[in-house]
Amino acid sequence: MKYNKIKSVPNRLHVKSGDMVQVISGKDKSKTGKVLRVFTAKGKVVVEGVNIVTKHLKPTQMNPQGGVVKKPNAMYSSKVMLFCEKCGKATRVAHKTLEDGQKVRVCKHCSEVL
Ligand SMILES: [Zn+2]
Repeated sequence: MKYNKIKSVPNRLHVKSGDMVQVISGKDKSKTGKVLRVFTAKGKVVVEGVNIVTKHLKPTQMNPQGGVVKKPNAMYSSKVMLFCEKCGKATRVAHKTLEDGQKVRVCKHCSEVL
């Protein structure tokens, strides 16, 4: 059966995978971690070591024992801010265009390229 995919403009988030971020609210407040995945459509991110949930796995062919795994769960991107390692704190970003025309994000406090 064919169906039409709805084309939607992806909502760009202020973070992308690989970024260091700090959690600014919730039970993991002030924790820092690396963004592992970004779900632009949902506005959610998965951050390493943050918002850990325990999942109980049913036995499958691959994993006949089933079991329990702990893994980071997606959370709203509005709960995280980019983390500047030079300042050692969460920061807002400024955008800067380099001489070669490349656009980069920089820390508002120390102008370090993020
Ligand atoms: Zn900084």
